[in-house]
Amino acid sequence: MNEALYYRVSGNNIIECYLCPHNCRIREGKRGICGVRHHIKGKLIAETFGRASSVAIDPVEKKPLYHFYPSKQILSIGSFGCTMHCSNCQNSSISQCKDISQKKSTKAEPEDLERMIVENDLGLAAFTYNEPTVFYEFMTGLAKLFKSLNVKSVMVTNGYINKKPLLDLLQYIDAFNVDLKSFTDEFYRRITGAELKPVLDAMEIIKKASKHLEITFLVIPGLNDQRDQFINMIKYLAHNFGRTQVLHISRYFPNYKMNIPPTPPEKISEFVAIARENLDFVYAGNTGDYMDSNTYCPKCGHLLIVRNYYSVRVRGLRGNNCESCGNTIEGKF
Ligand code: SF4
Repeated sequence: MNEALYYRVSGNNIIECYLCPHNCRIREGKRGICGVRHHIKGKLIAETFGRASSVAIDPVEKKPLYHFYPSKQILSIGSFGCTMHCSNCQNSSISQCKDISQKKSTKAEPEDLERMIVENDLGLAAFTYNEPTVFYEFMTGLAKLFKSLNVKSVMVTNGYINKKPLLDLLQYIDAFNVDLKSFTDEFYRRITGAELKPVLDAMEIIKKASKHLEITFLVIPGLNDQRDQFINMIKYLAHNFGRTQVLHISRYFPNYKMNIPPTPPEKISEFVAIARENLDFVYAGNTGDYMDSNTYCPKCGHLLIVRNYYSVRVRGLRGNNCESCGNTIEGKF
């Protein structure tokens, strides 16, 4: 049993976990909101430690990351639990977890993962599939190992993490994809059971630390597809993170408890066009071949990276520069 980080014991034997902004107060025998941090005899146990739900090798574009070593493969590791309870969760069988001991886990010993990295000549690893914050101790242990192997670590996250654990994490994680689910607190509270502000704060910390950040926004009809709110969000991103902030605007499909029909592709086109007025690198996700997801130089329009689903070709870049006009493109190429 591995003891968790970021908790204290208060009076009446109540544990206060301060890993994420829920700041749960947990009684003996109970778990926090994430379902995987368990108060046992005055200690908080990180039940996710060493327990992977899945280990796979994916294209890095699948995370999605489009400006971080495009076309490379990435070792992907998930565990169980989540700090949010979205009614449209795409991975509810692993993330909406009540008792991890009932879950079947995959072997993910450090030496097995190291072997996969060496055998497949991988330079990237991602913590993904469920929310990595809730397997913080497992993640940081592996990220330290990956760093020693010169492998870059990526966190695919909802961004719901407190400042101190995030600051501590930055030394191990090279790139983040943060799922910004809405630009209203009302949506966050009703659909995810969390709050908006800590997610914005986390993104600002990541950006300030000069880590690579890409943002994903899933458009759900009737819930977060109001044009005015979307424009406010884009202006916020452009103002705080700059025009070069990479944004993925994704199409929703019904999942878990949500049966709203899928986002019309026309809505994605509309939002992509709006976002491109203020941001240089906006991509449509989950749209099949309805819209192209290539990267063009924002200065001269030269085609830099060609994408067709997960087939990717970097063709117009010399290092970080457009081969046509020399413009510097933000990212790791
Ligand atoms: S990580 Fe889990 S236990 Fe800790 S505060 Fe967040 S939801 Fe609660």
